[in-house]
Amino acid sequence: MNKKYAMAYIIDRCIDCKACMVSCKAEWNVPEDFFRTHIDQGLKKELHGKFRMDFLPSQCNHCDKAPCVTVCPTKASHNREDGIVYVDRSRCVGCKYCIPSCPYDARFYNHDLGVAEKCTFCLPRIADGLEPACATTCPGNVRVFGDINDPASEISMVLGAAKENKQKVWKLREDLGTLPNIYYIQK
Ligand code: SF4
Ligand code: SF4
Ligand code: SF4
Repeated sequence: MNKKYAMAYIIDRCIDCKACMVSCKAEWNVPEDFFRTHIDQGLKKELHGKFRMDFLPSQCNHCDKAPCVTVCPTKASHNREDGIVYVDRSRCVGCKYCIPSCPYDARFYNHDLGVAEKCTFCLPRIADGLEPACATTCPGNVRVFGDINDPASEISMVLGAAKENKQKVWKLREDLGTLPNIYYIQK
């Protein structure tokens, strides 16, 4: 069976330190004013007048049915067999069609290179047997990356344990039919 790369965020562990954002930017020389991953904040009112702040990481969801792939006229944006949605820079003509097509706002235009850019799941690093930079740097081990087709992988075990413990597991905007591959886990 092919590998199927995915990431899970254990969001109760996120403290909004933004180490992931910085390490990703440094690793991939992401242009000023842009990031491949973000932390969003959400304030929730709970029972008895208490409030809770949730920190929600985000990056490209490596969607199985990715609108960015559908609209790309040169097939620069494509789904790889290992689940990664990749932009082949040699084929990108910088038309930017893909940028507004992404419902997750995961792409931006790299003016220095004249191409669309986004998270690659750190493909060159994982090809060398390393973890994605953001997962390595996170002090709270929020980000769990791996092959969900391998039952022995850490991500498979984390998702299995969440199910067993009846934790909330979801993906962003599943109603859109994009089949994203980033899982959110919360108590
Ligand atoms: S999150 Fe956006 S950029 Fe990433 S694969 Fe899905 S549609 Fe494309
Ligand atoms: S900017 Fe590049 S990746 Fe995006 S649609 Fe145009 S050719 Fe495809
Ligand atoms: S997987 Fe790599 S490219 Fe994607 S957000 Fe994390 S560090 Fe950045």
